[in-house]
Amino acid sequence: MEETSTKRRIEVVGMLPKDLEPIMLGLGHPKYRASQILEWIYSKKAEGYDEMTNIPADLREKLSNIAPIRPPSVLDVKRAKDRTTKLLMGFSDGANAEAVLMEHDYGLSLCVSSQAGCKMGCAFCASAISGFSRDLTAGEMCWQFIEASRLAKDKRISSVVVMGMGEPLMNYDAVLQFIRVLNWGKGINVGARRITLSTCGIVPGIEKLSGEDLQITLSISLHAPDDATRDRIMPVNKLYNIEDVVGAARRYADRTGRRVTYEYVMIKGVNDSLAQAAALVRLLKGSLAHVNLIPLNAVPESGLVRSTEATVAAFKKVLEDAGLAVTSRREMGSEIEGACGQLRLRRKRSLQP
Ligand code: SAH
Repeated sequence: MEETSTKRRIEVVGMLPKDLEPIMLGLGHPKYRASQILEWIYSKKAEGYDEMTNIPADLREKLSNIAPIRPPSVLDVKRAKDRTTKLLMGFSDGANAEAVLMEHDYGLSLCVSSQAGCKMGCAFCASAISGFSRDLTAGEMCWQFIEASRLAKDKRISSVVVMGMGEPLMNYDAVLQFIRVLNWGKGINVGARRITLSTCGIVPGIEKLSGEDLQITLSISLHAPDDATRDRIMPVNKLYNIEDVVGAARRYADRTGRRVTYEYVMIKGVNDSLAQAAALVRLLKGSLAHVNLIPLNAVPESGLVRSTEATVAAFKKVLEDAGLAVTSRREMGSEIEGACGQLRLRRKRSLQP
């Protein structure tokens, strides 16, 4: 086998102090330097070691060789009139991922991708069509935050949803590391209650998350009240059916005291009948839950179309009359292909011969 002389570089972005401390000690420096360096990166938005004026010059020099700070390239930025900005980022191996910055009346929120592409194959989703490249690292998720906060300039991003491309619970360790970095008080410092993780229903992941002692919001992409319908649009349902998923989500609510959100994308003639609304009521009644009805952002390849506004209103009324907490999400970013994976899909299309 051929010997390679290029050692793997250390990626500091994505680390917590406890991860960087052994490296500081190994370089003959006190471990508190780890926290100082990470504060520069996450909180003071330093772009390089040369800005870190309270760090000794010899350490800065060493780190710029063994642990260079290399931002991803920003391949595309699209701003929409509805105060949504979408970023497409490219990483050094060519993988790319999207993040979407949304301006609400209560502040800025950021939607982060957890994988480059997705394996789950949901029928309505653009990420399913453009295919799976790989898991993203915790560092790459942090970079989405850092690049987005540079765009946001002096405005603070106060909440994060892991709801972009990919299935976060299929990349559990990296996503949890990312959430703990977001949560670190001296760094980015986004409170756990302002972090949401959205899953298509990976039951063992939900169970594990319940034991993490984190107050994050769990969001379940349910999209159907019965297995026959869910099987049709979400292949993952063959692995973990509705009963399993809702059971795991109820246990999450019991253990954390946090209300679970159920996402429900309204698809014409597939999951939007009044009988299905009644079935959804039977499924969720009595649990600490909140239903969010989302207008489908139609991906042409899928052949699926969104429900009419009147259908959504009638469906919503059934849930409300039964006492379920329900909102219908204002659509954001559709004019810039703001829905899951659409910008990446367009780039892929345009690169095809
Ligand atoms: N894999 C995770 C997170 C990514 S999808 C999950 O399944 O939850 C984030 C949310 O957007 C999910 O609720 C997903 O079902 C929804 N979504 C995907 N494609 C969509 C589309 N074309 N229109 C509207 N919502 C979509």
